[in-house]
Amino acid sequence: MSWVPPCGTCRYCLGGQPNLCPTIMLSEGFVPRFRLGDEEVGALAGTGTFAEEVVLPAPSVVRIPDDVPFDVASLIGCGVMTGVGAALNTARVRPGSSVVVIGCGGVGISVIQGARIAGAAEIVAVDMLESKLDAARRFGATHGVTPDGLAELSARLTGGDGFDYGFEVIGLSSTIRATFDAVRRGGTAVVVGAGRGDDEVAFNAFELFYLEKTLVGSCYGSADVRTDFDRLIRLWRAGRLDLEGMISQKVGLADVNRAFDDMKAGRVVRTVIEM
Ligand SMILES: [Zn+2]
Repeated sequence: MSWVPPCGTCRYCLGGQPNLCPTIMLSEGFVPRFRLGDEEVGALAGTGTFAEEVVLPAPSVVRIPDDVPFDVASLIGCGVMTGVGAALNTARVRPGSSVVVIGCGGVGISVIQGARIAGAAEIVAVDMLESKLDAARRFGATHGVTPDGLAELSARLTGGDGFDYGFEVIGLSSTIRATFDAVRRGGTAVVVGAGRGDDEVAFNAFELFYLEKTLVGSCYGSADVRTDFDRLIRLWRAGRLDLEGMISQKVGLADVNRAFDDMKAGRVVRTVIEM
């Protein structure tokens, strides 16, 4: 399921940016389709992925090949597409380049996998939790550091210039700023994390001009779900995208809150709920 169903006819869909299509998401996507007593019930993010049954607009549904298990497929629809897409579609990471990823949860891990698939030479994972750095290394990070070690590592790997690409995968002004600072002059800083509307990021007028860095948002991995889900499945089939390895545990719906606790504590990459 896609939480941005492409309508197929608007300027975004026709212009190659269907991930920005507002047409269905802001209309049909939020129409309540069920009743719980007197209460109307809609699907969260237009997909309602914790529900056992849901009614969706047709463009929200992307057909997957029969050989793809549901647990593997379930990872693609949001986090993996967002992260891998940020590296492949938004940043278009070049082979041999240097990459830093700040925030190594499930989406950050997906960015790391995308950078690895793109052929990045150095992929530096940054996170407060050592457990997440260990996970990051399993999925392709060549280095892992806590934030206080980043400057020294950057000096060693890039000669102090900074990285070619930086990805912020948390959604905080402080880490967006840190990502911008971590990329080299002329480099690209990509904001993947979903932050708050009142969390302002400060840049001075001189640096934006003089450093000539690109600061770009990445919403849903700049994906076209009609073709990119299949692209990810083919990378998975070829052994180049590790999806099974991202499933740390499987639980029933009754344990959904514990699964969120595990995610917040950094104990898991992804939990899959089996209905
Ligand atoms: Zn559209």
